[in-house]
Order: sequence, then structure tokens, then C-alpha cells
Amino acid sequence: MKKKYKILLLILMVILIICLGYRLIFTIKANILFGANICTCTGTGGPAGDAITPWKCNLCGNEGMHANTAVSKLCDRCALITGRCARCGHIKNYIYKELRRSL
Ligand SMILES: [Zn+2]
Ligand SMILES: [Zn+2]
Repeated sequence: MKKKYKILLLILMVILIICLGYRLIFTIKANILFGANICTCTGTGGPAGDAITPWKCNLCGNEGMHANTAVSKLCDRCALITGRCARCGHIKNYIYKELRRSL
């Protein structure tokens, strides 16, 4: 029984390390691509046309079709991982504030 738990713990640790590494790589890549600018997007955002636009995530390279011409820079997953705005790729304001408070 005890050995089983050890293996389970090991698997969990490996998953955790992979997740953290993945996150770190994406964060570094996002910093290089978009810099440390703060997102200034407001609400629904700028004007968008009604054309189907081919779309590609700047971080993970996920491809797809976007419903309008206001194409995002990041996919939802990458935005979540890096704490950035999916639309412009810049750092979300509230995360920056949290960071400032914790420093
Ligand atoms: Zn933004
Ligand atoms: Zn992505």
C-alpha cells in the first residue's frame, strides 16, 4: 500500500514540474513578444468587421478561424497561463497590481 502512495506522489510531482516549466517557458516567450506593457483594452474593444479571419495564437501556435476581424493575439489557454490579455497580449492590469502589492 505504501509503495503505491509513493508512486502516486512521484507522478503528481512530475506533472507539477511539467506544468510549472510549461508556464515559465510561455511567460518568458510572452515577455519577449509583448514586453511588460499593461493591457489597456476596455470592455468590448475596438471596431471589428464581420469576416471570418484565419487566426493563430502567438504563443502556442494554435490555429483556427475567428468570427470577426478583431483577431486576438493569444488563445484563452495562453492568456490564462501567462496572465495576459488575450486580445492584445499585454499584461492584465489587476495582475500587475497584485504583483506590485506583493513586492
Ligand atoms: Zn488587452
Ligand atoms: Zn495559445
